[in-house]
Amino acid sequence: MRSYRLIAPAKINLYLEIIGDASGGLRQRSDGYHELAMILQSIGLADQIDVRSISTDNIRVHCNHPQVPTDKSNLAYRAAELMVRQFPEAFAKYGGVEITMNKQIPVAAGLAGGSTNAAAVLVGIDLLWKLGLTQSELEELGGTLGSDVPFCVAGGTAIATGRGEQLSPLPSLDNIYIILAKYRSLEVSTPWAYKTYRQQFGHSYIRDSDNLAARANAVHSGKIVKAILDKNTREIAQKLHNDLERVVLPAYPQVLQLREVFANQEGVLGTMMSGSGPTVFALFESQQQAEKVKLQVREAILDEDLELFVTRTITHGIQVASSV
Ligand code: ATP
Repeated sequence: MRSYRLIAPAKINLYLEIIGDASGGLRQRSDGYHELAMILQSIGLADQIDVRSISTDNIRVHCNHPQVPTDKSNLAYRAAELMVRQFPEAFAKYGGVEITMNKQIPVAAGLAGGSTNAAAVLVGIDLLWKLGLTQSELEELGGTLGSDVPFCVAGGTAIATGRGEQLSPLPSLDNIYIILAKYRSLEVSTPWAYKTYRQQFGHSYIRDSDNLAARANAVHSGKIVKAILDKNTREIAQKLHNDLERVVLPAYPQVLQLREVFANQEGVLGTMMSGSGPTVFALFESQQQAEKVKLQVREAILDEDLELFVTRTITHGIQVASSV
């Protein structure tokens, strides 16, 4: 096969708790990242990534989205570069790689758009070069590119701790409908959100390594995990949580407004910001209810900059759509 078409789904955070940072205890993080406890969920909104062998010995990226760079700063490019470094013999044998990205996932939205593209490139090159890497080998490679990349490989529903790279799969949730709401021109910088959180709430971080581990473990027996195990959508929606809302909502009134508008619509089971935002999502029991509330929100906020998508939870990460 000379080319693979991959489907790369976005994610939302059903839960995001910041429990410590680089200054925490014996397990001090040297990378400046936070220690997190999250629950990540793949959703139907996805990018299409084509990965193709080319006769020249370079990496080329094409993208339909004007905001996405096609140079080395593109996470998909960096994923291909990583594979070239890791597997020089396969690179010499099969030649360069052309990556064509058809983006549907909003950029800088808290939906792991770049991370899922990188995961797709790892999976695609593994197939292209017949490397036969296992899922955990792909996840390990992904972890060197970014903390959400390992989750994006297998996707579904999972607890993620550490920087987000330590994964424990949960039973799949495949019947929850979602509205995603994002202002096209509004971006929130992820480093800004974490830095501001540290400035404002760093005093409450856990600094002792045993307590840090205990707190990360506590998410496994937390109420939202129980609700997921019970497949109780209403309870899941009641237990949504995101610590970063504490800094993003006060600084971005449009995000706060979206949260409030969703909270006041009939049929919304729960609403929360995803990741570091600015995307806000709302959960529903049926597609019909989600479509109805989408129209109501459109009427409540008369702003053409606001993008609304109806999608659903899905049970997988990167998938091969076709090969030629
Ligand atoms: P996360 O939820 O993992 O924090 P995000 O959804 O907030 O990610 P991305 O869409 O990945 O953010 O984009 C963050 C930045 O990365 C953007 O400013 C964009 O220019 C850059 N970027 C690099 N590669 C990509 C890519 N493949 N797709 C989208 N953005 C990319």
